[in-house]
Amino acid sequence: MNTTNRTALVSALHDELSGVLAVLSGAQRHVVAGREFWVGELHGQPVVAVLSGIGKVAAATTATLLIERFGASRIVFTGVAGGLGPGVRVGDLVLARSLLQHDMDASPLFPRHEVPGYGRARFDTDPALSDALELACLRGLEAVARDLSPATREAFGLHTPQLHQGLIASGDRFVSSQTESLRLQTELPDALAVEMEGAAFAQVCHDWQVPLAVLRTISDRADDTAHVDFPRFLKEVASQYSSAVLNSLMST
Ligand code: SAH
Repeated sequence: MNTTNRTALVSALHDELSGVLAVLSGAQRHVVAGREFWVGELHGQPVVAVLSGIGKVAAATTATLLIERFGASRIVFTGVAGGLGPGVRVGDLVLARSLLQHDMDASPLFPRHEVPGYGRARFDTDPALSDALELACLRGLEAVARDLSPATREAFGLHTPQLHQGLIASGDRFVSSQTESLRLQTELPDALAVEMEGAAFAQVCHDWQVPLAVLRTISDRADDTAHVDFPRFLKEVASQYSSAVLNSLMST
């Protein structure tokens, strides 16, 4: 198998990846470490698709397997996240330009958030791959947003999606209280969104020098009002966005 140019397409949750799996051609299933890896082609380009699992440890294992076992030469992560920054609303998209582990704390030995041994807290995504994903967003999204049913729009109070770019914070916690969300916003004023896997991928990709891009659809505001219908948002909104953007990315 030619692995020199294989793109890994990764999500945390099944509904986020199902749209991609549906259009993968010649897909072969490989089970490694309890994970199902789907090797195939998308728009004639070699890809491997997999669920990362939830949380940083599951994500780091998956990232390592993608690189070591499946020869991924670039990794694109799409999923959902909680909005943190002001103006980052449900239905918006956040493209990570850097990622950080908000629950990393080896102080006072190391500065808060710094990953020991790396001399840094923030890990950048790949500029060229992120630029390509940005373009794919701009091309693919408007049509999807337009095609959402009025019922879906109303259920989630959706508007025309905005694309934000900057810092995403990851940690092993589903942030669902106003108190914690405000604490994160105070500690990390430039963080746009919070999720549970991205920074783990960023650290592994840094180790291996593999380009990474991370795009998240905002599913909630990480506060007490984090809407309850998470599965419905995944099916009706987030997975539509992911498929449209990834199809657009891979067809160029
Ligand atoms: N309800 C889901 C579990 C969701 S865990 C289930 O039944 O399986 C949350 C997932 O969405 C993680 O992958 C995380 O990256 C992302 N996420 C969305 N909103 C989040 C928030 N407010 N805080 C942390 N992670 C969030």
